[in-house]
Amino acid sequence: MIYLDNAATTKPFEDTLKESVNYSYENFYNPSSVYLPAFEVKKYIKEQKEQLKNILGANECELIFTSGATESNNLFLQGVLTSNKKEEYIFSLGEHASIYEVANIIKSKGYTVHFAKLTKNGQVDIDHLLSLVNLNTRLVSIIHVSNETGAINDIKTIVKLVKQKNSKTLVHSDGVQAFSKINVNISDLGIDAYTISGHKIHALKGIGALYIKKSVNIKPIIFGGGQENNFRSGTENVLGILSLVKSATKLYIKQKENYENIKNLKIIFLNELKPLNNIVLHAQNDNVSPYIISLSVMGIKSEILVHMLEKKGVLVSTGSSCSSNKKQAGNRILEAMGCTKEEVLGSIRVSFSEFNEPNEVKLAGKIFKETVNELIQKIK
Ligand code: PMP
Repeated sequence: MIYLDNAATTKPFEDTLKESVNYSYENFYNPSSVYLPAFEVKKYIKEQKEQLKNILGANECELIFTSGATESNNLFLQGVLTSNKKEEYIFSLGEHASIYEVANIIKSKGYTVHFAKLTKNGQVDIDHLLSLVNLNTRLVSIIHVSNETGAINDIKTIVKLVKQKNSKTLVHSDGVQAFSKINVNISDLGIDAYTISGHKIHALKGIGALYIKKSVNIKPIIFGGGQENNFRSGTENVLGILSLVKSATKLYIKQKENYENIKNLKIIFLNELKPLNNIVLHAQNDNVSPYIISLSVMGIKSEILVHMLEKKGVLVSTGSSCSSNKKQAGNRILEAMGCTKEEVLGSIRVSFSEFNEPNEVKLAGKIFKETVNELIQKIK
């Protein structure tokens, strides 16, 4: 199988996983217990957290381990809500379901919620976003890299401009598809809160983290034993935490090199598709992550193409797989970019990781081209 759905999830690194499993096996104690071996585990987790803070360029902060980005996003968005219904919340139309659905809940509770438009290349329309900011704006949450298109939002500029209009407005970003792939330095971004997930960076599923600037107050949404400084109760997922930090450490060193390699994979894949005249590429300006290609095959339903490709050993996705449980959601972002119905129906996402080799990507591109041609012949 040639796996090109790495925006959905990535294969764990064998070495960091083994290291994490070995540690968790030998040191299975509950970090909250009072005897020495348990204390050692607690200390080790603390060190791992400091390591992750360093990688993120984060200081003066809380870094809260969660069960994944969905929980991190929920924790921050629900945790900042106050009882003041005059407060306003701004999201982009390009947010992942774990933000978009919470935004709708916030709206249903009676708060004013705005959605900033997207440009045709998938970035948030910054002028529109700023026009929505006023003195009541409590929070702006804008995805860093789109899981649907790879479009990169200029978070540093957004933070600066939003705070110029209202210095009290908090800015959060979902960095799931950015962290470890493009350069992410939280201090440099100037952001108040940032979300990451383990399984998108070759760590385990079920682990994520939320960065919050020290000065920002949020309320927890899960109550119990008071772990994670009272922000997230529940016995720590030691195995997940180790896998996340060890994968992040490995990728931190290789981030630039990987980026260049992935850029090359994107070129190789798209070169194979050149002879096809029914392909529309989305998110086509310079601010796009090479890890994700979003395209539409005109005249062919994406589900049919994805299943044909699967039979031939190539795994890609129709839009983002995390929203495939919700029928309309996979199309929401492309529609917000102004894509036509036909483009939406034929939309495919191809996404890479450092495990992909140039030869297999070339072969996948060739198979893609042949399959599209076969389907066109069938329709004729
Ligand atoms: N945000 C983005 C941008 C994502 O791509 C994903 C995963 N599809 C999530 C949030 C949710 O992450 P998790 O699976 O860790 O809950």
